[in-house]
Amino acid sequence: MTDLDAWTDLYRDLHQHPELSFQEERTASLVAEALRGAGFQVETGVGRTGVVGVLRNGDGPTVLVRADMDALPVTERTGLPYTSTVDGVAHACGHDLHVTCLLAACEELAGSPSTWSGTLLAVFQPAEEVGAGAQAMIDDGLYERHGTPTVVLGQHVVPMPAGTIGLHAGASFAAADSLKITLHGAGGHGSSPHAAVDPIVLAAATVLRLQTVVSRETAPSDFAVVTVGRIDGGTKANIIPDSARIEVNVRTYEPRVRTRVLAAIERIVEGEAATSGAPQPPDVDHFESLPAVMNDAAACEATKPALSSTGALVIDPGGVPGSEDVGLFATAAECPCVYWLLGGADPAEFAGLTTIDEIAERVASLPTNHSPFYAPVPSPTIDLGIKALVAAARHWLPAAG
Ligand code: ZN
Ligand code: ZN
Repeated sequence: MTDLDAWTDLYRDLHQHPELSFQEERTASLVAEALRGAGFQVETGVGRTGVVGVLRNGDGPTVLVRADMDALPVTERTGLPYTSTVDGVAHACGHDLHVTCLLAACEELAGSPSTWSGTLLAVFQPAEEVGAGAQAMIDDGLYERHGTPTVVLGQHVVPMPAGTIGLHAGASFAAADSLKITLHGAGGHGSSPHAAVDPIVLAAATVLRLQTVVSRETAPSDFAVVTVGRIDGGTKANIIPDSARIEVNVRTYEPRVRTRVLAAIERIVEGEAATSGAPQPPDVDHFESLPAVMNDAAACEATKPALSSTGALVIDPGGVPGSEDVGLFATAAECPCVYWLLGGADPAEFAGLTTIDEIAERVASLPTNHSPFYAPVPSPTIDLGIKALVAAARHWLPAAG
């Protein structure tokens, strides 16, 4: 059995045993054991279930390479022979692949100490899916105990063709903000709306007006998404309730756009309530807030040849509207971030396609991350994912002399 077969077995094992955010106990213990076996100094329980592996190999910079470990509350429907064995939980985002590739890269770097110099800081973070794991590890003293990195590296598998790597300088993952908004009315009998203030109508008007934040207030050249993902209120057809609730999710790349969109939402929500004659202004609970992942342009340019050296085709796919908390490691260290997309879709899906447009259209038709059908192909994805991490880490940890 080759090393790659063994890593593919580990991938299948992780895939069969997914664990939700901050519950990555089994995964963490597998990770810790593998890191110890490769000669790393290991700390577990960092930011609750995170694992840190440190390998000091002479003078040089400290390079943080990150993988996330958590799965999603999704019922897998891939039909794979190594499908999830846990009811209602699946590695539908591919974090099992991230863990596998980083462990393999750690072992390879540990086994080739003459090819690099410095400190390798392998970070296996919990709870990326709830946007809390990176901050939890930082708050737990990750850098105080293990040193502050000079660069943060990592990758995310996506349904681009396996054999391609996506690298975008600037905002590569969007900022995400979520708001819980309670709209207050005055309840009453359904037959007497004149004696009430109907929060259902207020909610409906607010939801429609919120659509104008992007269509009428955001420049066509700026990226923003405003989605009302939840609306609820009332109990029965003939009762006007006291209040209604909506939940709004916002995605942006640029901080100035984010500030503007959030202010517009607040203004519209308050304005619609006032127009309805609401007895009190709405309560706005800004319960989720994750900044964009800002890839450093110079660091991306410097890392690109290393990524190309794997044999993968490195392309610039632009920013991704999804969100990620990997950027927090770089922000806390005040160092550059280089986070790339690893193609994981079966190359057979792209047979006969030649133009970028045809390929992009096929990518858009494939199950995305978080879908119950999402399933990256282990080969050649794992092999390239390992090579990409090793090559990028070696670039930032040049051998002495
Ligand atoms: Zn995800
Ligand atoms: Zn993910």
